Amino acid sequence: MKSAVLYEYGKDLSVEQVSIGEPGIGEVLVKMKASGVCHSDYHVIKGDYPHIPLPNILGHEGAGIVEQVGKGVDNINEGDHVILTWKPGCGRCEMCQQGWISVCDNFMPSIQVDPVSEISGKNLNKMVGLGTFAEFSIVPQSSIVKIEKDIPFPQAALIGCGVTTGVCAVTNSANVRPGTSVAVFGCGGVGLNVIQGARIASATTIIAVDILDNKLELARNFGATHTVNASQVDPVDEIIKITDGEGAHYAFEAIGLIPGPFEQSVMCTRKRGITVWLGAAPFETNVSLDARALFTERTIKGAYYGSSRPHIDFHRMIDLYKNNLLKIDELISNECSIDDINHAFNLLKEGQVARSVIVYD
Ligand SMILES: [Zn+2]
Ligand SMILES: [Zn+2]
Repeated sequence: MKSAVLYEYGKDLSVEQVSIGEPGIGEVLVKMKASGVCHSDYHVIKGDYPHIPLPNILGHEGAGIVEQVGKGVDNINEGDHVILTWKPGCGRCEMCQQGWISVCDNFMPSIQVDPVSEISGKNLNKMVGLGTFAEFSIVPQSSIVKIEKDIPFPQAALIGCGVTTGVCAVTNSANVRPGTSVAVFGCGGVGLNVIQGARIASATTIIAVDILDNKLELARNFGATHTVNASQVDPVDEIIKITDGEGAHYAFEAIGLIPGPFEQSVMCTRKRGITVWLGAAPFETNVSLDARALFTERTIKGAYYGSSRPHIDFHRMIDLYKNNLLKIDELISNECSIDDINHAFNLLKEGQVARSVIVYD
């Protein structure tokens, strides 16, 4: 199968032939049909997460068709359409038992069959056990969420990470109430989904913050009622002004690059305001806050994968999409083949696209 492999941080992905075995006990072979190109993949390429072992088939936002099921797999059949989840949850740990699958103690699903590069002969790791930048992947059955056959694969793939991370940060982590104000820092693939999540939750003032005007324009299409270009004005002052001097009820950090927006996302909220940090920052990104920032009973929360429960929330996202409440078609600004994957990362780096999607035959 063809796949895109990272051999060295900071280098292009190598698109090459790889061999893959048969699914083992409890495993499923999925023929990939589409994979989103997410900022977290780019973090790995840059070397921001040095704990991720190389060489590695990247990609974690995928949808496809079940090609073969291993022994002991139930309720999943050849030909099923599926979205892959990179945080399936073990079902047994304290967090899973409480319904917080996204912070399950047992992060990496076990994989019995490692793909092998036909060029270097090396065993290849797969990003978060999925490796969706490949024509096939063998995953544990717990990573499979079966879906209806009438949803297109590129749209389904985006539900596997960016859409769910953004929308569920609003509905599951912050629990945004109707008629409130929401500030969103960062209008990339995740930030746009926070914005539309806030619209779906009936927030009435939705303030998008970015430094690129094309992203802010896009934010308006997804439901932002106000836009703030943080390269021109102080976003905290501006958000307080827009909310009649009170500050926002909720704020979301969806950038994850530098400390500034993390701090601003706290300081722009009103008394008892709730801030959710979902940006996946590089290790040792230290944020400093005035200790008095929380005296007015503000809350800062983290959200990982939007505090989502894939088997519940993926279906909710599909229903919202089918009812024209969730825009996914509009998120896809570029569809390309795996041969063009490095170009897709260049577009992401330049902030040219909401999402690129790799489509497979
Ligand atoms: Zn992602
Ligand atoms: Zn667990």
